[in-house]
Amino acid sequence: MSLKERIDQVEARISKACEASGRSREDINLVAVTKYVSAAETAAVLQAGLTHIGENRVSVAVPKWEALNGQGIWHFIGSLQSKKVKDVIGKFAYIHSLDRMSLAQELEKRAGAAGQVVKAFIQINISGEQSKQGLTPEEAPAFLKDTASLQHLDIVGLMTMAPFEAEPEHTRPVFRGLRELRDELNRMAITRQPMTELSMGMSNDFEVAIEEGATWLRLGSLLVGKGEVS
Ligand SMILES: *Cc1c(COP(=O)(O)O)cnc(C)c1O
Repeated sequence: MSLKERIDQVEARISKACEASGRSREDINLVAVTKYVSAAETAAVLQAGLTHIGENRVSVAVPKWEALNGQGIWHFIGSLQSKKVKDVIGKFAYIHSLDRMSLAQELEKRAGAAGQVVKAFIQINISGEQSKQGLTPEEAPAFLKDTASLQHLDIVGLMTMAPFEAEPEHTRPVFRGLRELRDELNRMAITRQPMTELSMGMSNDFEVAIEEGATWLRLGSLLVGKGEVS
């Protein structure tokens, strides 16, 4: 299947899920996860009109960003070591994996020095799986209070990864849990502004995520492919 066909098919499925849940397409943003493909294939993704690029490893992403002269809007979606923060500031507009105070402080320091504001999602481990990164829902309020004073960090919302389920419907409680947590945290009014965003939904489960309020989908294998020439 060509890239254009993939994009068209994904778009049709997004529209259908929006219709089914009374949401509008404009409220859903799409991050094309290019971690499986080369810089040339990532260039083709931008050429095809997708602007948001998602990568999960600094050592792979930075050379790719350089090869593409920073075209597009870049999202860091993988776990991020504090010592690598200096490499992502100025390149990545969004970090989807903020999960600890030491990382928040390093982002604040480096973004401040660069005169920039980095947008961040707090990663939450809703499913409670040991293998998943993220704060527990119970840890979120204190974390938000502690980060509220960091002026170069704009916390736009929450992110989660659902466990892989053969039946996507089974991911619904995870996505619903993230939405309910965001709403509850907004009611506590501990962030500078209410958190509007939910980064959730991958190739296997994005329609359920849309139905539960996702505003950012992160799609790799289904949308971009897994590295075969398309
Ligand atoms: C790889 C990855 C994705 C995309 O996964 P697909 O199932 O290929 O769509 C989304 N989010 C994160 C954090 C990832 O690491």
